[in-house]
Amino acid sequence: MVSSTATLSGRPTREAVAGSSRPPRRAGVLLDRDGTIIVDHGYVGSPERVELIQGAAGAIRRLNRASVPVAVVTNQAGVARGYFDIDDVERVHRRIAAELEAEGAGVDCFLFCPYHPDGVVDSFTRHSEDRKPRPGLAIAAAMTLNLDLNASWVVGDRDEDVELATVIGARPVRIGERPSTDGVPTFRLLADAVPFILGHLEP
Ligand SMILES: [Mg+2]
Repeated sequence: MVSSTATLSGRPTREAVAGSSRPPRRAGVLLDRDGTIIVDHGYVGSPERVELIQGAAGAIRRLNRASVPVAVVTNQAGVARGYFDIDDVERVHRRIAAELEAEGAGVDCFLFCPYHPDGVVDSFTRHSEDRKPRPGLAIAAAMTLNLDLNASWVVGDRDEDVELATVIGARPVRIGERPSTDGVPTFRLLADAVPFILGHLEP
């Protein structure tokens, strides 16, 4: 961690100077993956099963053009359950990145949680602070992309995504067919949600 202590001479340490000269943190968008960016075919563990949701690339491109950092934060319990391994998840993410790039869009970082308490693969069978709605991946995204989580948004199709927003003090947007009953802004597609987010970003 960055130290903020001063030396005996009263001059700030190099670490403190580095900390104070860091650019201000910024708002970002944390995107769920399955059901938000790609079709949720259930435990997508191979690139051939990647299917971008209609309008998702264009929506991410709009965030890119507005200079809004974009992170994907996704639970991938299929690793713990033995359906696929870490390399498969990374292959899927490379395919998603390539398909987005073909449409002029990009994700700044992909973060995933391979753990689940009810897994069958010993090394991935446990509780994890990375598993949404726990905040580990969002905190990692914030450190990687210099995000102000309180000014950021979480977009996803499940309760765990909305709960993550609450846990980290961000604002939630739900992707879903049904109208919202809990006050969480809800849109059928990411493509519908992004204009709303861009209209509500703090300057
Ligand atoms: Mg999802």
